[in-house]
Amino acid sequence: MTEQKKRLEKLSGVKGMNDILPQDAALWDFFESTVKSMLRSYGYQNIRTPIIEHTQLFTRGIGEVTDIVEKEMYSFTDALNGEHLTMRPENTAAVVRATIEHNLLYDGPKRLWYVGPMFRHERPQRGRYRQFHQVGVEALGFAGPDADAEIIMMCQRLWDDLGLTGIRLELNSLGQADERAAHRQELIAYLEKHVELLDEEAKRRLYTNPLRVLDTKNPALQEIAQNAPKLVDFLGEESRTHFEGVQRLLKANNIPFKINPRLVRGLDYYNLTVFEWVTDKLGAQGTVAGGGRYDPLIEQLGGKPTKACGWAMGVERILELLKEEKLVPEDEGTDVYVVHQGEAAAEQAFIIAERLRDTGLDVILHCSPDGAPASFKSQMKKADASGAAFAVILGEDELAQGTAGVKPLRAIEREGQKNEQSTVPLENLTEFLINAMVASAADGAD
Ligand code: ATP
Ligand code: MG
Repeated sequence: MTEQKKRLEKLSGVKGMNDILPQDAALWDFFESTVKSMLRSYGYQNIRTPIIEHTQLFTRGIGEVTDIVEKEMYSFTDALNGEHLTMRPENTAAVVRATIEHNLLYDGPKRLWYVGPMFRHERPQRGRYRQFHQVGVEALGFAGPDADAEIIMMCQRLWDDLGLTGIRLELNSLGQADERAAHRQELIAYLEKHVELLDEEAKRRLYTNPLRVLDTKNPALQEIAQNAPKLVDFLGEESRTHFEGVQRLLKANNIPFKINPRLVRGLDYYNLTVFEWVTDKLGAQGTVAGGGRYDPLIEQLGGKPTKACGWAMGVERILELLKEEKLVPEDEGTDVYVVHQGEAAAEQAFIIAERLRDTGLDVILHCSPDGAPASFKSQMKKADASGAAFAVILGEDELAQGTAGVKPLRAIEREGQKNEQSTVPLENLTEFLINAMVASAADGAD
C-alpha cells in the first residue's frame, strides 16, 4: 500500500470499546440523572479518581488469583519512567486508596459514589465489553448489617425509579477468613474426589482459590459446584447474626431475595454479605449489579482497619434492559430553531438567539453547511427535522417592522387548532415563546 492510500484508509475504534452515539444520549441522560437523584436521596457524595492507577493497587486489592488480575487487566509500563500502571478494571480499590491517601475518614464514616469507564480485556459480546461503565457506591466506616441492607435497598429504589421490573436479588454470606478456611479444607477434599471432571482453570485454582471454582461459568461444572460443601454451613455465631440482620431489614422493607450458597463474587476482598442483582432478560450477561462487604480491604491497602461495603452496577447492561423494556425516553429536542434570510437579518438573528438563551430557552440558530444563504423552505425543513418546538422566522420584512414570525412545529392535534404562524414584536418575543412553551407542555400533558 502506498503511503498516500494508507493515510486515506478509515480508522476504526478498538475492539470491545464502544462509541456512545447521540441517538443514545437521551437514554444515558435519563439513567444518569435518575441514579444521581437516587444517590442524593441517601446522602451519598461523589468522588472522582483517575482512570490509571499503579498496577500494585489492583493486584493487592482485588487478589492475584482472580479473573481480573490473571487475565483481564490493561497493564503497561510507562515508557518514560518505567512505572507499572493499569487502566482501572473496577473502582473500589481506587476509592479506598484515595480515602486513605486524603484521610477522608478523619471525621467519621463516609458514603461515596462514582461513575465512569472501567477496562477489562474480556471476549466482547452482548453486555460484555472491554471498556464499559459502572456506577458504584462505597459505604466506608460502617460495621452493622444496616449498612448492607441500605446499599441493597438503594438498588431496589433505582430499579423502581427507572421503571425496571424482574431484577432478582441473590444473597450469600462469605463469613470471615477462619470460617472460609474451614470450608476450604472440605471444599478441596470434595473437589479432589471429582478432579477428573474439572476443567483446566478449576484444576489450577483447586489449591490456590477453590472458592472461585464455585463461581465457574463452565456449564459442565455446574452440577459439581451445586453439590459442593456450602460456606453458609460453616458460619460462626457472629457471621450468622450479621447475615440474619441483613435479611431481617430486607424483609421488613419488602425486598424479596433468594439465598444463593454458590454466590462468591469475582473479587477476593469480600467477607460476610455478598449480593447480586440478576435478570433473565439479557441472556448470559444477566448480572446487572453486584457487591458486598469488604471489611479487610482498607487495612490491606495500608489504612486503619475500617469496615465497609459497596456495590457496582454495569451501566450498559441496565441501558440494554431499559431498551428491552421499551423504557427509553424520547429525545426532547430544543425549544427554538431560528431561521433567517438576508445579511441584516442574519446578524439580528444571532443577537436574538443569544437573547433567547439568556432567558433559559434552548436555541439552534440556522447555519448553512456551505456558508451560502439557504431558502426559507429548506431552512424550515431543517427546523422541522431538528425536533424544536418553535421556529422563529426573521426576514427582511420582519426586520423592517421590528417583528419576528413564530411557528409551532410540533403538531397540536386538536380540532379547530392549527399550527399557525404569529407575528410577534421583537420586544415581546421571549415572553411569547415562554408562554407558548408552557401552553404546549400543558397540552402534551392532557
Ligand atoms: P461477570 O460475572 O458478568 O463477569 P463480574 O463479577 O466480573 O461480572 P463485577 O466486577 O462485580 O462483575 O462488576 C459489577 C458489574 O459490572 C457486573 O455485575 C456487570 O453488570 C458489570 N460488568 C462487569 N464486567 C463487565 C463487562 N466486561 N462489560 C460490561 N459490564 C460489565
Ligand atoms: Mg467478570
